[in-house]
Amino acid sequence: MENSRIHALPEDVVNQIAAGEVVERPASVVKELMENALDAGASRIEIQILEGGKKSILIRDNGCGMSEADLNLCYLPHTTSKLTSAEDLFHLATNGFRGEAVASIAAVSKLTITSRTEDASEANAIRLSGGTVEKKFQDASPRGTTFLIEDLFFNAPVRKTFLGSETLEASRILDTVTRLAIANPNVRIDYKSNGRDTFTAVDGNDLRSRIAEALGAGIARSMIPVDYEEAGIRVSGFVVPPGEQKNKRSKLYFYVQKRPIWNPVMTKAVNRAYEPYGNSSAPIAVLFLEMSDVAVDVNVHPTKREVRFANENDVFLAVHHAVRDAFQKPDENHPTIRLE
Ligand code: ADP
Ligand code: MG
Repeated sequence: MENSRIHALPEDVVNQIAAGEVVERPASVVKELMENALDAGASRIEIQILEGGKKSILIRDNGCGMSEADLNLCYLPHTTSKLTSAEDLFHLATNGFRGEAVASIAAVSKLTITSRTEDASEANAIRLSGGTVEKKFQDASPRGTTFLIEDLFFNAPVRKTFLGSETLEASRILDTVTRLAIANPNVRIDYKSNGRDTFTAVDGNDLRSRIAEALGAGIARSMIPVDYEEAGIRVSGFVVPPGEQKNKRSKLYFYVQKRPIWNPVMTKAVNRAYEPYGNSSAPIAVLFLEMSDVAVDVNVHPTKREVRFANENDVFLAVHHAVRDAFQKPDENHPTIRLE
């Protein structure tokens, strides 16, 4: 049209905008790439960061790897091996599905991906800068995939200014690693920050031992099991009984269909269960919700951190009752938890 002021945005601009939604900070990179490693069936994930991830982030897994052809597709927007139709969105078995993460990370960093499948004679690698391919090469890396992200937001100076201090970004990464580690107790995780071992979790763990590695032995020991079902919502995990730990800030680890999520309704429900016992300690809970795929939409947010429940009230009641029941059910370590 002659006088039209509307035009389609150039692809690099589209990618930068999309990247802004998925990649907010170094911790988002760690989350997306750990999820990809888990989706690839890894039994071991190594994470190494320098300067809170601002300088570099390396994530190495021993998963299925990518063929050369897949490696050449994975950094393009909306490319995925996990979803083929809109119908699949309702039965997600994988962490990823939007096909946005690698493209978004590539758009705002200097990215090197090295990957090798079981039957390949060597690993293929590709190096990109701001989404543009700079170099392709081969090396002798073992089976699995390594992502190396350098200079995050080098071409998005405004985003860079929104990052916190090195210490703050490192603590956000540790939180991300911890949350995913708890959801995947069978996966070995080694996390180094500035060359120092910061978090190590061995494989083949049960949930309580993994919680001990992630949140400390004291917390893990004082926890009691939660196992409850109501309105088609299964709630399982562990909670610290009121008054057992003298923590001031609550530590809540929530998962829906094994995905780490934030959810104010669940927070309220847990708080409600602690209320009758006074406020001598803030809640500490690790809770997994499982429900039918139609009862929850995990595809409402680019970072997949938020979900939408079909019936929030059911979720509130199931979580509240699950935790309340756990407190009232004596176990061998906690013969009675009495109301104050
Ligand atoms: P999604 O996870 O939503 O599919 P991503 O952008 O995160 O989208 O990844 C794109 C594709 O790249 C994935 O579907 C997968 O095929 C491939 N991929 C990414 N990371 C890995 C990995 N660590 N191991 C094997 N394949 C990977
Ligand atoms: Mg992904």
